[in-house]
Amino acid sequence: MPLVSLRQLLDEASKGGYGVGAFNVNNMEQIQAIMEAARKTRSPVIVQASRGSRAYSNDQFLYHLMLAATEVYAEIPTVLHPDHGNSPKTCKSAIEMGFTSVMMDGSLMADGKTPSSFQYNVKVTREVVEMAHARGVTVEGEIGCLGGIEDGHGAGLDGLAHLTDPDEAVEFVHQTGVDALAIAVGTSHGAYKFNRPPTGETLKMARLIEIHRKLPNVHLVMHGSSSVPKDLQDIINRYGGKLKPTWGVPVKEIQLGIKNGVRKINVDTDSRLAMTGAIRKVFAEHPEEFDPRSYLKPAREAMKEVIAQRMTEFGQAGHAGDYQPISLAEMAKRYAQTGASAR
Ligand SMILES: [Zn+2]
Repeated sequence: MPLVSLRQLLDEASKGGYGVGAFNVNNMEQIQAIMEAARKTRSPVIVQASRGSRAYSNDQFLYHLMLAATEVYAEIPTVLHPDHGNSPKTCKSAIEMGFTSVMMDGSLMADGKTPSSFQYNVKVTREVVEMAHARGVTVEGEIGCLGGIEDGHGAGLDGLAHLTDPDEAVEFVHQTGVDALAIAVGTSHGAYKFNRPPTGETLKMARLIEIHRKLPNVHLVMHGSSSVPKDLQDIINRYGGKLKPTWGVPVKEIQLGIKNGVRKINVDTDSRLAMTGAIRKVFAEHPEEFDPRSYLKPAREAMKEVIAQRMTEFGQAGHAGDYQPISLAEMAKRYAQTGASAR
């Protein structure tokens, strides 16, 4: 089936009461790992590429790898989404390339690190909503700032520095018409999210629930939501790695989020840990190996495993066959009928 819009995928997730993981990719092996996990668990899929990833792999390669994925895994509804667009121009290039959803992160200025004003955020996000919806493409916005830096993107702040204000979130959705909203509730990008298991003081799930109560029909997005499992950290460190002890977002907190309007959960670090651990193991145990396939194959398998587990935990497993794709042209028509803000 063709690539589908994020909006359709999340509307279906909302009806079914489940969440959908959005997994970051940079290359063929990672795309294959996600698609294999989706086939195994019969899950709809969101594949996302950061600006760093788009620069690393080149849009054409990414897009055509994804087209290959939709041919080989024709039974899986699949979304191709750019993570943290820093400007309307970046989003426009993704839409023109054929991405079926975009993220305009106007919570930061175009430099990708300076926190912006509410007015700036509304202005750039609104501009992207108009451009994207005219072509049936979904828009994710962000209000409040995530902690940490990843792929050169982020304010580098503590996850608690710019939490989402629930009333501002309502106003933001109202003024922009975004389909999905990323919120800051204490999570951070990268591997080092929490220096001990998070509590209500560091991971503000009560804030998330309040936002959902005020915006019951908006699809919420949790960024920085790798769980950073200890067993994956241990494999890396056992085979010569030097990760410092760290804690991610516990799956049970994500599941609480899913009960409260979270439909998209961004996961990148867990895949990175799984792949790196598998590669280190091959290097340590078989130093005579020099064929890249000897370590990329187990790396791909390790990523597939952690993703299949997340797909099951998020509840998306078993839902790949629930619906037929709505074309982007039809989505565009629907946006035009309801006004750009489809709420
Ligand atoms: Zn993010």
